[in-house]
Amino acid sequence: MQIHHISENNSILNKFIAEIRDVAIQKDSLRFRRNIERIGEVLGYELSKELSYKAADVATPLGIKSIDKATNDIVLCSILRAGLPLHQGLLNYFDNAENAFISAYRQPLNTDEKFEIVVEYFATPIIENKTLLLADPMLATGQSLVAVYEAIKKQGIPKELHIVVVIASKDGIDFIKDHFPENTHLWVAAIDNDLNDKGYIIPGLGDAGDLAFGAKL
Ligand code: URA
Repeated sequence: MQIHHISENNSILNKFIAEIRDVAIQKDSLRFRRNIERIGEVLGYELSKELSYKAADVATPLGIKSIDKATNDIVLCSILRAGLPLHQGLLNYFDNAENAFISAYRQPLNTDEKFEIVVEYFATPIIENKTLLLADPMLATGQSLVAVYEAIKKQGIPKELHIVVVIASKDGIDFIKDHFPENTHLWVAAIDNDLNDKGYIIPGLGDAGDLAFGAKL
């Protein structure tokens, strides 16, 4: 897996990451969603450098200019519900992409603190041979990403796979490395060291779904 840790180099991305983490600022859900969207735009821009390009003529009012344009058939796939603002950020740039939505939630097991991932809602276009962008804001244990990819594979195998994440834990990255094809790209804004016993990233930012859309039952 090729890991692209974007905040390794300082840029305006740091401001968006700082605001979604900041306990005083993140309470403003409109701003939280928009910052996640902006991070999606930055990650989308970075990953666009790995796409395939072909020259195409563009007619201006005064002449013809040849411009290299991306030729990939992109499918944007997000995990509900926390993935929605990140999805929108990617869609702002890949506006011709097809879209897929999958639900995955943590079902607590009766034994100790463990949980299993349940994948239910599944609405996707054809994925076979396309460029799949799989968006999940928080890569904590990595179990939901792997469960979702297993479900996707039953529908078709993408030609290229880009996983797009806002904050990842080191353990989550190690886990998914073993479950995705070797040529997979991981685009991650920030990487944190720890996970708590409930599977939350530490220091992370809390519950991304609740911050974007409010607390759930
Ligand atoms: N999901 C979240 O929203 N936050 C975490 O820290 C981990 C998973």
